[in-house]
Amino acid sequence: MKVKELPKDVVLKIAAGEVVTGCFSVVKELVENAIDAHAKKIEVEIEAGGKEFIRVSDDGDGMSVLDLKEAIKPHTTSKIDTVEDLHRLTTYGFRGEALSTIASVSRMVIASKLHNDESGAKLKISGGLITSEEPYYGNGGTTVEVFDLLFNTPARRKFLKSAAVEGRMVTEIIQRFILSNPNITFSYIRDGKTTYDVPGTLSLKERIKLIFPEISTEDLIEISHFDENSGIAVKGFITMPEKTRLNRFGEMIFVNNRYVKQFELNYALERGYGETLEKGRFPFAVVFINIEPGSVDVNIHPQKLEVKFSETSRVLEIVKRTVRKAIHEQGTYKIKIKPI
Ligand code: ADP
Ligand code: MG
Repeated sequence: MKVKELPKDVVLKIAAGEVVTGCFSVVKELVENAIDAHAKKIEVEIEAGGKEFIRVSDDGDGMSVLDLKEAIKPHTTSKIDTVEDLHRLTTYGFRGEALSTIASVSRMVIASKLHNDESGAKLKISGGLITSEEPYYGNGGTTVEVFDLLFNTPARRKFLKSAAVEGRMVTEIIQRFILSNPNITFSYIRDGKTTYDVPGTLSLKERIKLIFPEISTEDLIEISHFDENSGIAVKGFITMPEKTRLNRFGEMIFVNNRYVKQFELNYALERGYGETLEKGRFPFAVVFINIEPGSVDVNIHPQKLEVKFSETSRVLEIVKRTVRKAIHEQGTYKIKIKPI
């Protein structure tokens, strides 16, 4: 026979191609796990853009020793049981792929302990194989360390960008988490330097100010709308039409707290500005769209960067109208034509 089943480690390394698209995607998966585990405090540390070292540490639920050993196997999750659960999803994760694939292409140390247990476990894993196991007496929560990402798939490691570029991408991911999780305390250390230290008490507006010091908070308009018929809520901050930029990078859109890159949503936001937005200019915006989990499918993109709404045009219309209303209400705003 020519057709045969692939060895397990090959399957994992192929799957890792989807999950590990850069250091940023590893950080994203680990921070999402921390948030899913109800962490109130998350610390992220990277070295050389994450190529040498990534550590994500949380004070969340933690795992029992047995769960920890299960969690690093492929397709194991505590977040869903059935396909139907995909329509009730309130967690970032559900594929059960991150820990197993990251572990298969790195040297990983993972330590976890439930808050009420005296001890948990600390596992060292190299290329997917557990090389040591010892009890762990740290605080309740989980710490994952990832060394030498893609060390055992050198061809792929070559595709990692420079430390500076990888690091910048990680920083962007962290910024999005800081914006979308205002109750969590984040600390982010890059090459030994504390880049962010954000207490969980900081409001969204204060977080925007901290992350984008170039944005004057006076120029921000709050948007907030709840559509009773559909249950769709749109919230966040946008800049006045005259405070625009030459690219779309300042438009950050989240669906059920997931950062998405979905141009139809950007267009809807921009259409909300109508003619007040000059051609070729784009607002700064941090927009949260909240919708019932049953009305949105997040399982259409391996990186979960796009979602599928059951009623797309309705969502787009509500985004547009929310923005339009906010801009109209600011009609008396003193216009200072000065692009940021
Ligand atoms: P998923 O997040 O899709 O479930 P992962 O491979 O990322 O898959 O994680 C597997 C399981 O390990 C999770 O479902 C969760 O039960 C557990 N887990 C992972 N990270 C943490 C963490 N930081 N704290 C507590 N449990 C965790
Ligand atoms: Mg996960």
